[in-house]
Amino acid sequence: MSTIPTVTLNNGVRIPQLGFGVWQVPDDEAAAAVRTAIEAGYRSIDTAAIYENEVGTGQGIRQAGVAREELFVTTKLWNSGTADWTGQAGRDAVLSAFDDSLRKLGTDYVDLYLIHWPRPMHGSYANVWQAFEQLLADGRAKAIGVSNFGQEQLTRLFETSSVVPALNQVELHPHFPQHELRAFHAEHGIATEAWSPLGQGKELLAEPPLVAIAEKHGRTVAQVVLRWHLQSGVIAIPKSVTPSRIKENLDVAGFELDADDLAAIAATETGKRLGPDPQGFDWN
Ligand code: NAD
Repeated sequence: MSTIPTVTLNNGVRIPQLGFGVWQVPDDEAAAAVRTAIEAGYRSIDTAAIYENEVGTGQGIRQAGVAREELFVTTKLWNSGTADWTGQAGRDAVLSAFDDSLRKLGTDYVDLYLIHWPRPMHGSYANVWQAFEQLLADGRAKAIGVSNFGQEQLTRLFETSSVVPALNQVELHPHFPQHELRAFHAEHGIATEAWSPLGQGKELLAEPPLVAIAEKHGRTVAQVVLRWHLQSGVIAIPKSVTPSRIKENLDVAGFELDADDLAAIAATETGKRLGPDPQGFDWN
């Protein structure tokens, strides 16, 4: 029996609040990692076309032997084929990228499909979002959302569609807690999902205040950080390929961060990102 809480998205679909991310996991290692994660109790898996491990991810899902409908599978559009985001050609490119992801994953639907990066310099999202709406209407994506969008891009999307993204997946951890964006999401019924929730396992996990909180609760720093995400109402998708850490990252029930802990964690905020600033990020 899983004890992972769920978050209800704005279209009624429920997503586990803790999931398993597979960025930088090579395709030939993804099956083992995903299988280990599902066997450990994860029910949500986060991949993307650009991770080039959808094939391995799909194999891991099937090897784990858990019914497809008990799993929550997310993948993301790498929109390199839709440089100008316009016209039927742009929509067709989105639909064909989606078909490709389904084929690689070996499934006939995903639970969540995301626009991976906003690329604000390329203008309107109306076209690509129309293709997403079609996937939603067809039931091939149970929910649709975005990733790395800021308030400006979300507002631009609202201007051309009444289908509000179910979720925005953004860099978020105690060093970079995204207060303003989270408040904006709450106002508009958009769930917040944290990528690099553990700060990529770097400086964050060595922060002395976090080490002290971990000692106080008899937990690891990674568990404290993931507990912080859960208590913040954020969905987190930590990544690991180490079986013991995969299990450790799921074992975050049974303790509660108190007000002192939360204040000490808040004080570690640096305002610094680990990843690129989506406002200026493009790949063409
Ligand atoms: P993360 O914060 O999950 O950190 C992962 C790293 O932390 C591991 O590689 C390992 O080195 C370390 N680690 C994991 N568990 C640990 C533990 N218990 N103790 C000590 N160290 C531990 O970073 P991430 O992989 O960047 O992010 C998680 C997921 O978010 C990705 O796998 C991917 O699915 C998603 N993501 C999305 C985007 C996007 O643009 N949408 C960008 C980056 C990541």
